[in-house]
Amino acid sequence: MSQKYVYLFSEGNRDMKNLLGGKGANLAEMTNAGMPVPQGFTVTTEACTRYYDDGRRIAPEIQDEIFAYMGKIEEITGKQFGDKQNPLLVSVRSGARASMPGMMDTILNLGLNDEVVEGLAAKTGNPRFAYDSYRRFIQMFSDVVMEQPKTEYEKIIDEMKEQRGVTLDTELNADDLKELVREFKARYKQNQGADFPADPKTQLIEAVRAVFRSWDNPRANTYRRMNEIPYDWGTAVNVQSMVFGNGGDTSGTGVAFTRNPATGEKALFGEYLINAQGEDVVAGIRTPSPISHLKDQMPEVYAQFVDIAGKLENHYKDMQDMEFTIEDGKLYMLQTRSGKRTAAAALKVAVDLVDEGMISEKEAVLRVEPKQLDSLLHPQFDPEALKKAPVIGKGLAASPGAAAGQVVFTAEDAAAWHAQGKKVILVRLETSPEDIEGMVVAQGILTARGGMTSHAAVVARGMGTCCVSGLGEMVVDYEGKKFTIGNVVKKEGDFISLDGSTGNVYGEAVATTEAGISGDFDRLMKWADAARQLEVYANADNPKDAKQGSDFGSEGIGLCRTEHMFFEADRIKAMREMIVATDVEARKKALARILPYQQGDFEGIFEVMGERPVVIRFLDPPLHEFLPTNEDDIKEIAGDLGMSVETLKQVIESLHEFNPMMGHRGVRLSVSYPEIAEMQTTAVIKAALAVSKKTGKPITPQIMIPLVGEVKEFLFVKKVVVATADALIKEAGSDMKYEVGTMIEIPRAALTADEIAAQADFFSFGTNDLTQMTFGFSRDDAGKFLDYYYQSKIYESDPFAHIDVKGVGKLVDMACKLGRAANPKLHLGICGEHGGDPTSVEFCHNTGLDYVSCSPFRVPIARLAAAQAAIKNPR
Ligand code: ADP
Ligand code: MG
Ligand code: MG
Repeated sequence: MSQKYVYLFSEGNRDMKNLLGGKGANLAEMTNAGMPVPQGFTVTTEACTRYYDDGRRIAPEIQDEIFAYMGKIEEITGKQFGDKQNPLLVSVRSGARASMPGMMDTILNLGLNDEVVEGLAAKTGNPRFAYDSYRRFIQMFSDVVMEQPKTEYEKIIDEMKEQRGVTLDTELNADDLKELVREFKARYKQNQGADFPADPKTQLIEAVRAVFRSWDNPRANTYRRMNEIPYDWGTAVNVQSMVFGNGGDTSGTGVAFTRNPATGEKALFGEYLINAQGEDVVAGIRTPSPISHLKDQMPEVYAQFVDIAGKLENHYKDMQDMEFTIEDGKLYMLQTRSGKRTAAAALKVAVDLVDEGMISEKEAVLRVEPKQLDSLLHPQFDPEALKKAPVIGKGLAASPGAAAGQVVFTAEDAAAWHAQGKKVILVRLETSPEDIEGMVVAQGILTARGGMTSHAAVVARGMGTCCVSGLGEMVVDYEGKKFTIGNVVKKEGDFISLDGSTGNVYGEAVATTEAGISGDFDRLMKWADAARQLEVYANADNPKDAKQGSDFGSEGIGLCRTEHMFFEADRIKAMREMIVATDVEARKKALARILPYQQGDFEGIFEVMGERPVVIRFLDPPLHEFLPTNEDDIKEIAGDLGMSVETLKQVIESLHEFNPMMGHRGVRLSVSYPEIAEMQTTAVIKAALAVSKKTGKPITPQIMIPLVGEVKEFLFVKKVVVATADALIKEAGSDMKYEVGTMIEIPRAALTADEIAAQADFFSFGTNDLTQMTFGFSRDDAGKFLDYYYQSKIYESDPFAHIDVKGVGKLVDMACKLGRAANPKLHLGICGEHGGDPTSVEFCHNTGLDYVSCSPFRVPIARLAAAQAAIKNPR
C-alpha cells in the first residue's frame, strides 16, 4: 500500500503528534471525545518532509489524496467545495509538533470566489457577512500565501472607513465590503501580475504549499535553533471546515486559558469578541470583553464552554489554552493545547496540580521547562515600567537579567564609579580578561562585537551578570566617550537599561526587582532533588559566588578557576613580574608575594563550602594574557625588576603567540615553571589545613590540572603537587586527604583516558575546550561563520551551547568507559558551559557522569534538568 499522507480528524489522536503536529493531534483528540469541532483533515509532517525531498513540490499523488479527503469532508458537512448554492469553506492552518512562532499564519474562508460569495450571501440571507468573509480571505491569501505587503490592504480599509466616516470594521455595510473586495482584487493583480485565483482547488494547494514553505523561513529557522527543534520534523497542515463568528450579534470568537498564564491562578482567563473572526481578538482592532462577560451575554454557551474547558484540563491534566468560535449561538472548539505560561505560573500550576491530586510529583517536575527558571533567578524589570521605556537597539541575549545604570567605557571607570556608589553599565567593543574588575562591578555589559560564547557572554553568564553582546549597529567611540545606535547618542554617565533575556537596550533607567527561591519554586525543586541522580555543583571562583551557588542548592564546587585571582590590581603586578622573570629565583620571589592572596581566597571558599567538595583548577590561560600592554605599567615593572624598558619589551615580544588557545597554557605552564604548581599547591593545602583546624571539619581539597593530553605531563605536575602537599600535611601533623585529577579537554586525553585514569583521582570534562579542539575552531571566532552553517543546515545548533552528542559526546563517553575500567573509583564530572544547559545535562545523565557543574545562577536549572533526565531515563 502506498503511504498515507492525510488523516481525518476522526482518524487521529493525541499520541500522533509527531505525524499530525500538535494542533492536528489535539483536534483529533477533541473530535474523539465528542466535542463540537468543525471537521477536517490533517496533511502529515511526512508530506512536508517529502515536499522538501521532492525539491519543494507537492507530489501529484499527495494532491490527489488531499482532494479525496476534501470529498470526505463534503460528505460529513453536506456542503460542496466551490459550489454556488451550498459552499464548503475551509481554513488552512499550520501545526508543527511543538507550537512554533514564525510559522505561517492561518488562512480563513478559503474556497470563495465571485460566484461562490453570491451563493453564500443568498444562502445565509446575509450579504454583509458573505463579503466580509471574502475580503478577509483575499487579504489573508495575499499576505500569507503570496507574501504581499499587509499594510497596503490595511491602508485600503482605513481609507474606506475614512470615506464612510466610521471607525470600526463592523460599521462597514455590505456594499462597502463588496467595494473593498473589488479594490483588494485590483491591488492583488497589480502586485502579483495575475488575477486572484478563482479556482478553490488552486487556492487550496497554494495554501498548503505556503505552509510547507514557511517551515524553512528565516524566522522559523532561528526559533528552531534557539529551541533545539530539529529541521527534519516538518510541519503538518490542517484543513478544517469553517464556522463563522462574523455573522452577526449571536456569533463571535475568543481565546481562553483554564488558568491564568501569568500567575497560574486557577480561574478561567480569556477574552472574546462578538461578530468577529479568527485573529480579531488578538489583532487589537476592537477591544475584546473578558470571558466572564459571556456568562451574562450567552449563559448557555458560557456554561457549555466552562464544562468543556474543565473536561479538557482533566483530560490533559494540564492548563489548556483554547480557541473557540460561536456561530449563531452554537459553540465550536477550534484548538486546545497546553498553555504557554510564565515561569512563575509554570511553578504554581505544577504544584497546584499535585495538590489537586491530578498529577504526581514526578510529573510536576517534568512540567516546568528548566531554561524558564532563568527569568526567576536574576533581578527583573518592573513590567509596567518596561512597557513605557524606549528601545534604542537590540543585540544578542547573551546573559539573562535586567540591568539599569550609567554608561561607562572602561573597566577602570566602572570600578571607580562603582566605588562612588554608582550603578554602571560597561559598554565595550568587546571585552577581554583585563576588563574583569569592571565586569564584576557592572550591573550589565553591552558589547558591539562577539557572539553568545564570546568572552563577555561567557564571563557574564558565569557571574550571573546581565549581558547583551554583538549589537552590531552600535558604534563605540572610546575617545569621545560616547556610543551611537542609529541616530541615538549616549554619552558617559547617561542612563541605559539592558534586558539580557531579549537583547533589548533601553534608553533610560528602567526600575528592577530582586529574585530568590521560595514557595512553589522551593517545593518543586525539592521534588526535583529527590528524583535526580546527578549531583549538581557550581563553578565559583570566590566566596561570593560559592555562597550564591550554595543558596541556589549546589552540592560542591566543580570548578574554581584561579586565574581571576591574579587580575586584581595589587596581584597582577606580582604575576607580571613572575612571568617576565628570567630566572627561577626572581620567579619564586614574585610567586611568594601572590601566595598569601591565593591562600586567603581559598580559605574564604572552604569556609563557605565546609565539607562539600571543592575542585580547584590550577592556572590555565596563556601567559601573555597577563602581560602589561601600556607604557606606564611596563616602565614600573622594569624599574621593580631592575631591567631596562627595552629588555622588558623584548621579553614581552618573545612571549607573543600566534595561537594562544593552543599555546603556552594549562599544564604546560607548570611543566615549564613547576614553581607555579608548587605555589598553588601550597596555597590550597595551607588554606584547607587552616579552615579545617578552625571549624573542626575535615576538608578534602581536589586539585585539578588543566589541559592534559599525555599521562606523563600529568605525572610530572602531580609529582610536584604530591611532594609539596605531603610535606605541608606532615609538617602540620595532620592526616588530611587530598585528590589530584585532571580536566579532559583535549581529544588526546579522551583517547588515552585509560592511561590517565590509572594515575588520576577524577576527571572533569572541560567541554568548552574539548568542543573547540574537537571541531578545530575557536569559540571566539566561530560566531563569524557559524551563521552560514546554520543557513546551510550543516549544523542545527551552536556546539558551544548544546553539547555535540555525536562527536564530542562520543569522546566523553569513551573517556568515561576507558577511565572507569582503569580506575573503578574515578569520579566523573563536567565543568564546561554545557553543565548548565538542559539538553547537555540530559546527555551527562545518560552517559553516567557523577555530577555536572555550572555557573551559580544555572544551578537550579541544572537540578531540574538532571531530575527530568532521571525521570525520563532511569539508570
Ligand atoms: P495560530 O496557530 O496562530 O493560533 P490558528 O490556526 O489556531 O492559528 O488560527 C487562527 C485563528 O483562526 C484562531 O482564532 C482560530 O480559532 C481561527 N480559525 C481557524 N480555523 C477556523 C475554522 N475552521 N473556523 C473558524 N475559525 C477558525
Ligand atoms: Mg491557534
Ligand atoms: Mg579549558
